[in-house]
Amino acid sequence: MIQIKDLHKSYHMGNNSLHVLKGINFDVKEGELVSIMGSSGSGKSTLLNILGMLDEADTGSYVLDGVPIKNLNEKIAARYRNEFLGFIFQSFNLINYKSAVDNVALPMFYKGVPRKERVEKAHHYLEKVGLAQWSHHLPSELSGGQKQRVAIARALASEPKVLLADEPTGALDTKTSYEVMDLIQGINDEGKTILVVTHEEDIAHMTKRIVNLKDGIIIDDSPVKQVRAQQYV
Ligand code: ATP
Ligand code: MG
Repeated sequence: MIQIKDLHKSYHMGNNSLHVLKGINFDVKEGELVSIMGSSGSGKSTLLNILGMLDEADTGSYVLDGVPIKNLNEKIAARYRNEFLGFIFQSFNLINYKSAVDNVALPMFYKGVPRKERVEKAHHYLEKVGLAQWSHHLPSELSGGQKQRVAIARALASEPKVLLADEPTGALDTKTSYEVMDLIQGINDEGKTILVVTHEEDIAHMTKRIVNLKDGIIIDDSPVKQVRAQQYV
């Protein structure tokens, strides 16, 4: 599903430059649940943003679902991003003045999905994340865990091939984090390929493989026996 080879990325600020990714190689197969770990500043978000086509590497190659991601014009890049990728962020990134169902439906509006279909799908995915009763509530009326569920429903609604989550539990208490991981595990059980950036060891062990980043390189990449979040929720 994902193949990256010798990826490098530097940031330039004035005369200074910071070499953040120094030759990253890894593959993710369809159906994997992988965590990317590393201390603050190790380049996790930089890597995830490149995988998410929100940013581009300086050198190296990235192939997503058989498509080389390089020098695409913005229109084609946007199409691939919408078709292949779903995003979940630490801060949920919901629109405050829109209800849960409208938040979930919004990306489908931009993709030109007819109104009836988007509303139906939005309700379907809200139900899937356990929020059927909350569809007409505003984000301000929802708990952190519920907001993250709305964000997950929104990501799923575009039926992406890969789900990319940057610290999805970073703003949640421990119990709520495990509930969100339980949901993520369930989505992966159904076959979705998911990458989770986290700096929390226990969250990483709820995935099936841990990729450890340090100083811009992968220092370890190992399968782990998955801890089920269900036992804690
Ligand atoms: P955290 O755990 O704190 O989220 P991270 O592993 O996600 O950290 P990145 O956000 O990828 O780390 O940042 C890696 C390094 O690159 C950091 O030193 C950061 O300050 C720097 N950096 C990130 N984005 C930019 C940018 N747009 N411009 C300049 N420097 C940046
Ligand atoms: Mg980060």
